[in-house]
Amino acid sequence: MNAHLDLDSTYDYEAVVVGGGAAGLSAALILGRSLRRTLVVDAGQPRNAPAAHMQGVLSRDGMSPADFLAAGRAEIAAYGVEWRAGEVTGAAPDGRGGFTLTLADGDTVGARRLVVTTGLVDELPRIDGLAGRWGRDVLHCPYCHGWEVRGEAFGVIAHPAMPAHQALMVAHWSEDVTLFLHTAGELSEHDAALLDAAGVRVERGEVTGLAVEDDRLTGVRLADGRTVARSVLFAGASRLAARDGVLRRLGAELRATPFGEFVVVDETGRTSVPGVWAAGNVTGPQEQVVNAVSRGYRAGAALNAELVFADLEAKAAGRPVG
Ligand SMILES: Cc1cc2nc3c(=O)[nH]c(=O)nc-3n(C[C@H](O)[C@H](O)[C@H](O)COP(=O)(O)OP(=O)(O)OC[C@H]3O[C@@H](n4cnc5c(N)ncnc54)[C@H](O)[C@@H]3O)c2cc1C
Repeated sequence: MNAHLDLDSTYDYEAVVVGGGAAGLSAALILGRSLRRTLVVDAGQPRNAPAAHMQGVLSRDGMSPADFLAAGRAEIAAYGVEWRAGEVTGAAPDGRGGFTLTLADGDTVGARRLVVTTGLVDELPRIDGLAGRWGRDVLHCPYCHGWEVRGEAFGVIAHPAMPAHQALMVAHWSEDVTLFLHTAGELSEHDAALLDAAGVRVERGEVTGLAVEDDRLTGVRLADGRTVARSVLFAGASRLAARDGVLRRLGAELRATPFGEFVVVDETGRTSVPGVWAAGNVTGPQEQVVNAVSRGYRAGAALNAELVFADLEAKAAGRPVG
């Protein structure tokens, strides 16, 4: 039994982590190790679930995303952190510095502080058959998948905001790359020169679908009736939609990016709402698993430090703690 549990029993939980992916489990681990009464609520839809393997995570390279999260859940349980399957659908200030969360099943939970790690949704280009192959042979990130498919026949669907960027990047992993402009506009002269230097071919027509044989991508179909043989297709999401409903409900400040809006956080993950931290993909599209783990750790540690000092200040001033 630690001092905090005695001092602060007015809340169901000192910390609730909304979202139990890489960022949330990491925040929960450090909160558990900081003796904080912590709950993780998780809706069970991590972004990388369609992928069989998780790459580029030091000491866990190639592990399945499901095994990684199961290991994380076992680790937080060892520190007494509670984990609950469910979706947080409502969040409101409770008038005394904490928050009341409403879950989809109608239950409410009182939280003194929050860490929001709800991730994002990749809104995929609307091309027939593409969504079903996401994370298999339709890929978004060369760091996650490039090594495994190096040297293969790559296609790239141009992103309207940066039509040449991904083709130029992935050309580092294969000499056989075709960029499909699809619905993106014409290329700038500079982009055209870089694509030329990288040896990337450009198809200007609209893509209408994918050719698949024996459950493997074999080509990309164009509106003019041709099929360009390809075994791998890189297709960045047309929009990365942060799952930021909880943060929006609490009035957290957001910033516009070329890929969508993301919550504003400081280097510890603190949002503009006092008592609310955020980490992982809900804060930005660049957070791969190791970054999400690192940011979750920082948010959990910052939350704990804030509570340590808030309670000491209150105690020193003779005010009630909590
Ligand atoms: C196909 C694919 C493959 C990838 N491969 C790799 C890879 O090999 N290596 C790598 O480093 N990265 C990879 N990534 C990126 C990786 O998925 C992210 O870096 C990582 O998932 C971010 O972790 P997170 O905790 O921020 O979000 P997530 O892992 O998405 O977790 C968020 C969790 O919050 C839950 N949630 C959302 N809203 C609520 C709510 N309201 N209430 C309760 N719970 C909620 C979700 O259901 C989910 O379980 C890949 C991404 C994709 C799309």
